[in-house]
Amino acid sequence: MTAQQLAAHANGVRRRAFALPVEVWLTLALCVMPFVLLSAGGSVDTAIRILLWGIFGLGFDILFGYAGLLSFGQAAFFGTGGFVTAYLLVSGIVTSFPLAIGAGVLASMAFSVLVGFVALRRVGIYFSMITFAISELCFFIQHSILAPWTGGDNGLPGVPHPTWQVGDTLLELKPDWGMYAVILAIFIATFWFARRLVTSPFGRVLNAIRINADRSLAVGHNIQRYKMAAFVVAAGYAGLAGTLIGIFQSYVGPDAFAFDTSGQVVMQTVVGGMRTLIGPLVGAALWIYLRDILQQIPGIGGMWKLILGALFILAITTMRRGIVGEIQHFFYKRRLAAASLALAASEKLTAFAPPAAPAEFFAGRAVPGRSRAAGDERSAAEGGVPVIEARHIRKEFGGLVALDDVCLSVREGEIMGLIGPNGAGKSTLFRILTGEMAATSGEMHFRGRNITGIGVREACRMGISKSYQIVQVYPELSLRENLLVPLLARSRGAFRFDVLSRIKPDSELMKEADRLLAMMGLNDRLGGPVSDLSYGEKRRLEIGIALATHPEVLLLDEPLAGLSPDERVQVVRVIKSASAGRTVLVVEHDMDSLFGLADRVAVLHMGRNIAVGPPAQIRDDPAVHTAYLGVPSE
Ligand code: ADP
Ligand code: MG
Repeated sequence: MTAQQLAAHANGVRRRAFALPVEVWLTLALCVMPFVLLSAGGSVDTAIRILLWGIFGLGFDILFGYAGLLSFGQAAFFGTGGFVTAYLLVSGIVTSFPLAIGAGVLASMAFSVLVGFVALRRVGIYFSMITFAISELCFFIQHSILAPWTGGDNGLPGVPHPTWQVGDTLLELKPDWGMYAVILAIFIATFWFARRLVTSPFGRVLNAIRINADRSLAVGHNIQRYKMAAFVVAAGYAGLAGTLIGIFQSYVGPDAFAFDTSGQVVMQTVVGGMRTLIGPLVGAALWIYLRDILQQIPGIGGMWKLILGALFILAITTMRRGIVGEIQHFFYKRRLAAASLALAASEKLTAFAPPAAPAEFFAGRAVPGRSRAAGDERSAAEGGVPVIEARHIRKEFGGLVALDDVCLSVREGEIMGLIGPNGAGKSTLFRILTGEMAATSGEMHFRGRNITGIGVREACRMGISKSYQIVQVYPELSLRENLLVPLLARSRGAFRFDVLSRIKPDSELMKEADRLLAMMGLNDRLGGPVSDLSYGEKRRLEIGIALATHPEVLLLDEPLAGLSPDERVQVVRVIKSASAGRTVLVVEHDMDSLFGLADRVAVLHMGRNIAVGPPAQIRDDPAVHTAYLGVPSE
């Protein structure tokens, strides 16, 4: 049995045991929850609150857990939804509940577009601080300018409950079992949507952006749009929770926009376990139940925040992944251990599966008549048309001139080596060639077209891709998932909100990922995350990610650096098969390997291009010897 079959087998066992969708299990558990709460001193009221905060947390988990955006201002959207819906219902402008709720949710989402437009210009702590500041602004405005509509300090009381006229009787949905059932149905629907979203191609790209934003951009995703979409979805969830809490309490309090509200959803999600979707619900259950219980205890009621705070600090320090996260991790480790044990017993690990013939794989981008597999290794060098050209490139970093009047022309189908001592400017030139960095002056041409300043995403779309000097993979993802990131950009374009679609295991996309893995000799390493791979394997995956964008021009920045002799041989083999039908520019210090691979070699020294020509000529060039040895050789 291969590792692949084993992993499939392990998954199969798991699937059979839990054949019902998660939503069914969750519904069952949530049907039992109120009874557990009642027997433990809670109430139906407590249960309803838990569900509502669970909805709020679902959106936040998508935003923080999957997209990696830590917002301290979710109260802005919670409050917007709450007040808009409450105002519409209290004033009688809208009498239909679905309409009023829809309007509240839409208002939150529309507002989040504005907030996102400002906040998403920054990353990390600056993003968090902007969201925090904006929600504080909302708090202030609600208490001042908007007070005539929101009730200022008093909040907005008198939000009606939904009613139905059935025959002669008027049914009212009171905050009791009936309302619990309705909100449970809404929770399950929103949970289902969130789960579809995070497993959809959209969700996978979102997750990849969190892990490595720069690489995700470089393989062709419009990361700003993905972040904005996640921000708006999270605001929709926050708005929905706000509207429903208003209706449930018949009141929207002045604390809806308060920092406490934003802080509580962060805490609940982190304690429950982010990136689990169920975590925020578990966090909410703990928080709300403990708060209700602690407040009832005579003598310590007033200190509930102190006790809850201490308990949560304890939870976070002992369970880094949160409650649900730790449980998932425990089972994941067990499955992995079982799979690798069985694997060790069933077969010897093959050291390296030889690369598969890539000819048909890259048929789409093949250069006619230039297939290296056909044996005409050197033919490409002679007379090919220039594919990518750097013209008079200059790059300054402050006072330092990293590149000075560099001209380089790489011909169609050739492998060109780029050598030069450390600090010569090779990586800088690569960054300019792939559009990651703008040159101070000079032009870039691709197939005769001036592409100066088009940016890394557009350069990738045109067919220029790079493997990085420092490996840029997605350590938390599996090998297949790593390759899906560039493949999804190719098949779906820079952005698509396909939250309800799925990647089927037998889809063309998966097959392509598997073919690439086979070509990289990584098909026996499918189980487990990429963080478990050896450095040489990560290198091959790194090249695989660049290849998955189907580049016409592939740039490799020191692909052999830090590898053992065995690993070098494997990577050289991969480079050879990757070069079939495409143009390759490779920076390398391993001269033996490079001179064996390259059709031509260019030499950079102190930011200047001092020589270019066939390997034999470069080997004997006195200027090159001077550059490397400091003195001309005899
Ligand atoms: P190589 O890849 O040939 O070893 P690099 O292109 O990385 O060299 O660097 C060329 C020169 O530019 C070095 O002196 C380096 O310190 C400088 N340099 C590279 N990147 C930056 C940067 N982002 N900011 C400032 N200086 C840089
Ligand atoms: Mg470098």
